[in-house]
Amino acid sequence: MRILLVEDDFMLGEAVRDGLCQEGYVVDWVQDGGTARAALSTTAFSALLLDLGLPGSDGLSVLRWLRQKGHTTPVVIVTARDRVADRIAGLDAGADDYLIKPFDIDELGARLRAITRRVVGRTESTLTAGEVVLDMRQRLVTFHGQPTGLTAREYAVVELLMRRAGGLVTRAEIEEELYGFEDEIASNAIEVHIHNLRRKLGPRFITNLKGRGYRVDNDR
Ligand code: CA
Repeated sequence: MRILLVEDDFMLGEAVRDGLCQEGYVVDWVQDGGTARAALSTTAFSALLLDLGLPGSDGLSVLRWLRQKGHTTPVVIVTARDRVADRIAGLDAGADDYLIKPFDIDELGARLRAITRRVVGRTESTLTAGEVVLDMRQRLVTFHGQPTGLTAREYAVVELLMRRAGGLVTRAEIEEELYGFEDEIASNAIEVHIHNLRRKLGPRFITNLKGRGYRVDNDR
């Protein structure tokens, strides 16, 4: 999952980015509202972590702008302002959840999993396609009941394909999910991931729709 982190505190931003990267998320970190809007205009994120106190336009105005544009991206407000009024204003403006600084990175991970599950309309935390089972809570994929030892990026590919099971997922969408703005992407990177996933999850798990993208079916 690709997360946009909007945080002007350097130490906190770095800690959150590193913590989430270790959990396998792709994190794009920006430090002001204008850059956040630019990123949100061009890129589909799985969730937005939004500090309220930002230089220039503050977090609340970014949130209102996002919702006015009709984007339903889940938003977690991350703020030091523990006054009730700020939390209410954030929730009224369309935030899905909030965290008060300082917070535990594990709690942030749990909140992110909860809100992204809500967005795909699921209350359970596993996805199943044939003999492949993905557990979003543990970020674990099994094949015929055995752990598969996927890398973080392989996991992200499988999660994306399984969330959209039955539908086409383009190569560009996979790249967008896996790589941040600053990452270098080898031209065959996605093909390499797909190749390794076929090796680990069986050759029939992912269908390659030549030149268009990839698909996982629910019903095998
Ligand atoms: Ca701040």
